[in-house]
Amino acid sequence: MISIAEEICTGCSMCLKVCPHGVWGIQEGKAALVSPERRIECGACQLNCHDGAVSVTKGTGCLVAIIREDIMKKKTAPDGEACC
Ligand code: SF4
Repeated sequence: MISIAEEICTGCSMCLKVCPHGVWGIQEGKAALVSPERRIECGACQLNCHDGAVSVTKGTGCLVAIIREDIMKKKTAPDGEACC
């Protein structure tokens, strides 16, 4: 799941640049999920947002988190730590 705090977002476009799937766009000066069906919840946007406006929790496409939890038996941080 991906969520954005619009009141924090400065519209810098960093999340667009780092997203490997073109999930983000800028609308009215703020980041917006323009292609949410393409998201894999890898966490790149969260890790690269200097303002802390993006939150990502593990999704079905988050292979690293799946390996940690299901194979290595290590839990992903409860605060929604991004997987990459
Ligand atoms: S990187 Fe963060 S502040 Fe910049 S546009 Fe994306 S959500 Fe907004």
